[in-house]
Amino acid sequence: MMSSIIKLLPQNVANQIAAGEVVQRPSSVVKELLENSIDAKANNIRLIIKDSGKTLIQVVDDGIGMSNKDIKLCFLRHATSKIKQSKDLFDLKFMGFRGEALSSIASVSQMTIISNNDDQTEIGNKIKINAGQLVLEEEQALKKGTSISVENLFFNIPARRNFLKSDSVELRHIIDEFHRISLINHNINFILINNGNEIFNLKKSIFKERIIRIFGKSSLEKLVPIDEVTDFVNINGFIYKPDFARKTKTAQFFFVNNRFIKNHHLNHAVKSAYEGLIDDKYFPSYFLNFEVPNNTIDVNIHPNKTEIRFDNAQSIYAVLKSSVKHSLGQFNISPTIDFENGIKYHTPYDYKNKTPDFPKISVDRLYNPFEIEKMIDIKIDDLDTGDSVSKINFPDKSISFPSFQIDGKYVISKNSSGLVIINQQRAHQRILYEKFLKEFCGESKLSQALIFPIKLDLSKKEINVVLGFKTNLIAIGFEFSKFTKSEIELSAFNPIFNKESIEEFFREIIMDHENDINKVSASFDDYMARVFSKSHSSKSKKSLILQEQHSLINDLFACNEPSVSPFNQKIFKVIPLKSIENKILK
Ligand code: ADP
Ligand code: MG
Repeated sequence: MMSSIIKLLPQNVANQIAAGEVVQRPSSVVKELLENSIDAKANNIRLIIKDSGKTLIQVVDDGIGMSNKDIKLCFLRHATSKIKQSKDLFDLKFMGFRGEALSSIASVSQMTIISNNDDQTEIGNKIKINAGQLVLEEEQALKKGTSISVENLFFNIPARRNFLKSDSVELRHIIDEFHRISLINHNINFILINNGNEIFNLKKSIFKERIIRIFGKSSLEKLVPIDEVTDFVNINGFIYKPDFARKTKTAQFFFVNNRFIKNHHLNHAVKSAYEGLIDDKYFPSYFLNFEVPNNTIDVNIHPNKTEIRFDNAQSIYAVLKSSVKHSLGQFNISPTIDFENGIKYHTPYDYKNKTPDFPKISVDRLYNPFEIEKMIDIKIDDLDTGDSVSKINFPDKSISFPSFQIDGKYVISKNSSGLVIINQQRAHQRILYEKFLKEFCGESKLSQALIFPIKLDLSKKEINVVLGFKTNLIAIGFEFSKFTKSEIELSAFNPIFNKESIEEFFREIIMDHENDINKVSASFDDYMARVFSKSHSSKSKKSLILQEQHSLINDLFACNEPSVSPFNQKIFKVIPLKSIENKILK
């Protein structure tokens, strides 16, 4: 007998399965409903929740509304007004387009939809859907717009309802979603009410004001604008100054064509633009919108549509990184990349106006590069080193203080709070780096003429690399008596360099160029200072007499940023007396 064991799933079961993809928790419902209101061109959107969305999630808008016919279609699977033909998929102007959200949500909740698409009447149509089944249809008073209420989410799937987290966790997720949507849609008024309390009341405003309304007035002083226009992407928005970087990813927002997205690649671009300004373990904050032609992105790769693919991913990465650096530089936070426009003397540290206090840069000064801590296994949190570098007050040069060296690598000393361990090579690099940078950024460059011009022994390929830096080299005091495709002859140099090793410096620039060092530098001056600090610093092991140890310590703590090397490595560590007492020798 011919029999079949394969059956088509009933529609409501199919929808419940689909709901697994779309609806993970109350915040997923919030996202879908808010997006629908935005797609409906609403000017006012009210989000009302009870018990962190477990009892009620309601969104009321004044958008285009739905006809009586559309109301009865909208909760069916693949019902959408946003795509008419497959080519529409490649030119998306809407947040949603799959026609899956309402059907999925309706299948796992009790939903009420009231809508009116006519501004001449105040009578709308209402339907109630229980676990995907239409149970009521009537008229109800409503101005033009739509109200959708989702009650008792997952009431018919106890396993999923039990899986929901505490109210505070679910509320957190809802607020996150609310931030993502309301930030970028700042031209819309939003209200969020939880258990009768108005948590947010955001008036239509410019982007900056929306950020401040959400993240507090204190964010005003943290924001640095970004505005970059290219022929394949426009980037605009704000980044936080490096001082405000945090150990948790508090405010990281990328939007593409006004849609919140997550993207590791872009995050990496921002992070690397902050390199040297914040510690590795810290996260920069940003609010950045990318405008790209719709046909150069693919939003279809993730069901929740928070991940997208760019056709020009590499170029966007590069533009983003350089514009973040540029903004950090423009606002005097770090040097500017300005290879094209010739030389601009952006001083990374504002030497002229700075008293030698220590910068507020949030580097993790607790990081210990030395083995000692691993051996004794103290947790960093247990170490009372929360005090800043300002406590490391080394006495004046003339007064002697104890110090000694171990392994030709570390200088050990003490201050009022404890034992100080310094990596001498990194310290030396920092001292030199700041010295070079100061020289390069200073107003008058020293230049010393050579009686006999030096002809550099370089290949054509190498000369071509140097050509890229020619104007910069001139700006820091070099003069060329000859500069052709096959020959470079130097007639003057900056006496900060050692004449004997000038050719070596050129090799260094070329080599580091090949190793991409300059790509992570914030400016040519920064790049040169790094190159030279590396080549001039003492090798990893070098014995130092007491006097040399002392001047190393004094020079280091006279630096603007004594805690990290120009290559972002920790220079010193303080082991507080307290932790020696309580931990190490307990
Ligand atoms: P999608 O947004 O992917 O089209 P949804 O399931 O989210 O699918 O919504 C289905 C349809 O219901 C939408 O295409 C739209 O026509 C209609 N709709 C949903 N919410 C609203 C709203 N707030 N205002 C007007 N129409 C809406
Ligand atoms: Mg939708």
